[in-house]
Amino acid sequence: MQRVIVGDVAIDSITERSGPWRAPEAMFPAFEAEAGGRYLRELGPIHYDAALNRLNITYQTFVVRTPRHTILVDTCTGEDKGFPPPMDFPKAPWLEGFRALGLRFEDIDFVFSSHLHIDHCGWNTVLENGRWVPTFPRAKYVFLKKEYDYWQAATARGENPPGKVWTMNCEPVTAAGQALMVDDDYVLEDIVSLSLTPGHSPFHCCIDIASRGQRASVIGDLMHHALQCREPDWSTIFCADPAAAARSRRAFFARAAEQGTILLPVHVPAPSAGRVKAEGDRFAWEFV
Ligand SMILES: [Zn+2]
Repeated sequence: MQRVIVGDVAIDSITERSGPWRAPEAMFPAFEAEAGGRYLRELGPIHYDAALNRLNITYQTFVVRTPRHTILVDTCTGEDKGFPPPMDFPKAPWLEGFRALGLRFEDIDFVFSSHLHIDHCGWNTVLENGRWVPTFPRAKYVFLKKEYDYWQAATARGENPPGKVWTMNCEPVTAAGQALMVDDDYVLEDIVSLSLTPGHSPFHCCIDIASRGQRASVIGDLMHHALQCREPDWSTIFCADPAAAARSRRAFFARAAEQGTILLPVHVPAPSAGRVKAEGDRFAWEFV
C-alpha cells in the first residue's frame, strides 16, 4: 500500500501474504453466481482471479505514526504458531516489510487489534526459549476488554482454536504487564478511537484515526472483500453472527460515505485504502 496521510498521521502497511484464496461461493454462503459474477468482473483483477475463480485476499498490518507514537493495528498470523496449512504463512515477508519501514521491535508504542482472531494478533508474541513473550518490548497492547474476556472464556471452555490463539497471542501479553484493557470509549492522543462493529466477532472494533479534520479507519474484518460493498448483507463463513455483521457493515459504511473516511480493510489487496460511496442501499468501492 502507498502511504496514506491523514492530517498529522502517516499510515503504511506490512503485507504478510497476498494472492488468490477462496472461491467466492466458499467464502459467502449468500453468493449468487449471476450478480456476484458481474460484480467481481466489474471490480477487476486486483480483487478477483477470474481464471482460478478465487478471491484475491491479503493479510496485512497497518503502521500508524502519529506525531508522538508508532502504532501497529492488526498483527497478522505471526511466526512459529504451528497453525496448519493454509494458515502457515512464511514469516520473512512480514519481517522484511517491518524493517523496510525503518522499524525495530522496540520502536512500537501501541498495538491494537480489531478483534482477536488468528490473523489479527499473531505478531503480538514471539517464541523465546520455549515461552511466548510480547514481540514489542516497550509497547502497550490495547485490548477491548469485552473481546479479550470473550476469548478467555472460550479458551476456558476448551474451544481450540481459537482458544489456542488467545493462549499464544494474548495471555502472555497480560502476564508481562503490557496489556491495556479498555472500553470502546477509549481515545489515544485525541487521534485514535474505537467503533464497536460486532458480528464478525462478538466485539469486533474498527480503529478510527482522525487528525486535522481528516479521517481514516482500519476496518479489520468488517469487510473481507470489496464485493461486500455491492452486497453489504453477504457476511462470510467466518462471521460469528452474520446478520449482526451485516448491520454493522451497513451502518459503518453509511457514516464513512457521509464523512469521506478512508477505509483500510486488512484483507483487500494493494492499494488497499479506499472510500465507499452510497448508491441506494448499496455502496461502491473506490481505491484512493
Ligand atoms: Zn481476518
